[in-house]
Amino acid sequence: MILDGPKKPLRPADVPQPVPGPGEVLVRVRACGVCRTDLHVVDGDLAEPKLPLIPGHQVVGTVEAAGPARPGGGEGAPRRGGFAVGQRIGIPWLGGSCGGCDYCREGRENLCGHARYTGYQADGGFAEFCAADERFCFPLPEGYPDLQAAPLLCAGLIGYRALRMAGDAQRIGFYGFGASAHILAQAAKYQGRKIYAFTRPGDAAGQEFARRLGADWAGSSDEPPPEPLQAAIIFAPAGELVPAALRAVARGGTVVCAGIHMSDIPAFPYSILWGERVVRSVANLTRQDGQEFLALAPRAGVRSVVQPYPLEKANEALADLRAGRLTGAAVLVVDPRAAQ
Ligand SMILES: [Zn+2]
Ligand SMILES: [Zn+2]
Repeated sequence: MILDGPKKPLRPADVPQPVPGPGEVLVRVRACGVCRTDLHVVDGDLAEPKLPLIPGHQVVGTVEAAGPARPGGGEGAPRRGGFAVGQRIGIPWLGGSCGGCDYCREGRENLCGHARYTGYQADGGFAEFCAADERFCFPLPEGYPDLQAAPLLCAGLIGYRALRMAGDAQRIGFYGFGASAHILAQAAKYQGRKIYAFTRPGDAAGQEFARRLGADWAGSSDEPPPEPLQAAIIFAPAGELVPAALRAVARGGTVVCAGIHMSDIPAFPYSILWGERVVRSVANLTRQDGQEFLALAPRAGVRSVVQPYPLEKANEALADLRAGRLTGAAVLVVDPRAAQ
């Protein structure tokens, strides 16, 4: 499925199979998760996609072939070891980084100014085949069927980075209970934390879903929590949630904005930030985040709740995500034999 330009529906097309370059693998895609970031790319909120573009950055598939060896073994980034043909792997949002800048050398490749993002600057997984730099792909834990594994790759692991940024807070609020929060709630419960889920006002079904996945309390985003929070993570792209979350966290608490795009944050009184409250964003992922989260998820018994769509219904999946009609995570089934 191809994006020709912002705000245009994706278009089905027959394109040549990608040829893996040096150090790349060619992956036969089984399933690809649909992320809010894909929606921001399609809607033009993220303004620098390559065009035309195949979106999708939560790619689950098997290695079909490997490209030639990377000359010189690449700079900086350690080689992850080649994947075997036929092995199931995941391709995440971070498709490559320069390996040489200060950020890359300090283990903060998520901030590299020359990074390449899957389904944004490189073709992604809304397709039968996808080529990717093998150093940035992950082996996937067994025990996760293909469809369930897909949302772990962004909703799960960028959410995990956001959870890390919440420090050791025991009482955490999640604003927006979609693909990311429903996975992270399970991981956070495993870590012994209390979860407070905030949904759109009046979304009783969403609140029920949150309780089912372990939330200790669920309510509307315009309600105060029953007790002050120690941290909050904002998954929804709505700037007005920042002052709402600041009002809900106690002194010293952190509000983490987990999305790549957010509407403008309205002005708010300094008093709700005062008391060493912190507002911060989380950007992208590092490979270490991926390794840690993909090890934690099976230990914590994380299960993802997915809503499958055939590949050619990608526009429908995006529309449902835009309208908030999803429960859990949307996943495109690319290979009908993909394990559900
Ligand atoms: Zn770099
Ligand atoms: Zn994503």
